Amino acid sequence: MKYQSTRGEAPVLEFSDVLLAGLAVDGGLYVPVEFPTLASADLYSLAEMSYSEVATRVLEPFVSPSIEVDELGNMIEDSYSTFRHPDVVPVKQLPAEIGNDRYLAELYWGPTFSFKDVALQLLGRLFEYELARRDTGVTIVGATSGDTGSAAIEACKDRSGIELVMLHPRGRVSEVQRRQMTTVASPNIHNVAIDGTFDDCQDLVKAMFSDLQFRERHKLAAVNSINWARVAAQTVYYFTTATRIAGPNQPISFCVPTGNFGNILAGHIASRMGLPIKRLIIASNHNDILTRTHSSGVMQIRDVEPSTSPAMDIQVSSNFERLLFDLSDKDSVWLAAAMRDFRSSGSMTLGKSVAKRIRDLFDADRASEAEVEQEISSLYSTQEEFLDPHTAVGVHVIRGMKLLDSPAAVMATAHPAKFNSVVEAATGVAPPQPAEISGLMRQTERCVDLPNELSAVMEFVSAASTS
Ligand SMILES: *Cc1c(COP(=O)(O)O)cnc(C)c1O
Repeated sequence: MKYQSTRGEAPVLEFSDVLLAGLAVDGGLYVPVEFPTLASADLYSLAEMSYSEVATRVLEPFVSPSIEVDELGNMIEDSYSTFRHPDVVPVKQLPAEIGNDRYLAELYWGPTFSFKDVALQLLGRLFEYELARRDTGVTIVGATSGDTGSAAIEACKDRSGIELVMLHPRGRVSEVQRRQMTTVASPNIHNVAIDGTFDDCQDLVKAMFSDLQFRERHKLAAVNSINWARVAAQTVYYFTTATRIAGPNQPISFCVPTGNFGNILAGHIASRMGLPIKRLIIASNHNDILTRTHSSGVMQIRDVEPSTSPAMDIQVSSNFERLLFDLSDKDSVWLAAAMRDFRSSGSMTLGKSVAKRIRDLFDADRASEAEVEQEISSLYSTQEEFLDPHTAVGVHVIRGMKLLDSPAAVMATAHPAKFNSVVEAATGVAPPQPAEISGLMRQTERCVDLPNELSAVMEFVSAASTS
């Protein structure tokens, strides 16, 4: 398997290089030159397999020839043994009042209770494996507004070859989210609270990556959602969910609470690999750039309004570029120019054929804050089940979709206890806290406060990278 950049001006690489590179040198994102396919007989055999067996079967062609299948299988087994449910991604039926044949695929049983764990648990192990093989090390630097930071820390803690520096905006992440990061005592984990906003944190990270000398000297690396290995790892639960609910030849739809477009893009890849998917439904909160793009064919930035589903508070969905590349028949010349324009003007016209192809494959809708609250309250009063606000966006959107009687699953992206104040405000009842979350309140925190100044942060990263 070879990988090419969406912007067409970067070298073609194999999996292990793409894993460590993150962004391509031309500013594009890496995608497979060709998608592997699974025949119908293969799909039947998946129905009999465990989650880890399916993952090994689905991911093998993506990592070949960089990684042997036995090594891959071991890393996968180890990654998903950290999950708190034997099915890894269990599936539950939703009440008929929401629709016939409607399901939740619970992606949140990993170490930090968000769907980010599914990909990052594997990514941490892939990094460690590849760094040992090359006898080198990296300094992973990231910025987080919540879920990514803790999932990356859990995935990388105590892994040899990795130092991880995670910036978060001081006082602007929830107490649970902060403690999930700062109570990890491993010596290779370095938490920094920046006196600023999430955008400030992200700008600091970007500035360090743009300083090529600094980047080289400290072997900076990233685990953000544009890393291809994360998208690949996320294709697996589309296969397991579809084969559990519908049987391999019955098309199923998926409704995905969407931010950076990484999760739903994985659904599109699964479909390109031969999984019979009927519709992919993009669910947004009131930051609805994707819903507007879907209906108008014009992608236009607006200011982000904070919501109760912060992981979906986005201006630009970076993985959307991979979809545009695929649906424009790999027109990297058009895409590179369009992305440059979009960066400078905040607006981009997709062109008739790409806009039509998106509508042929995807539906899109949004949920307001009131609709999210209503959805959480309604499921609690009929079923005594809790929904987190991100998943509630998805449930609201699926309720309004006309899919006739074909089966559909909503991707449940966070455990309700992670957003307990929103859930309690909607239902009047606090969702039960798993012991791992309530226990965080008694543990010691480790975190350094730094000003929003590049020199201070660079000095900190330098010291961390040699420790
Ligand atoms: C990251 C995240 C999302 C958005 O996923 P994308 O892959 O960025 O579209 C949705 N819900 C939760 C809880 C998340 O952590």
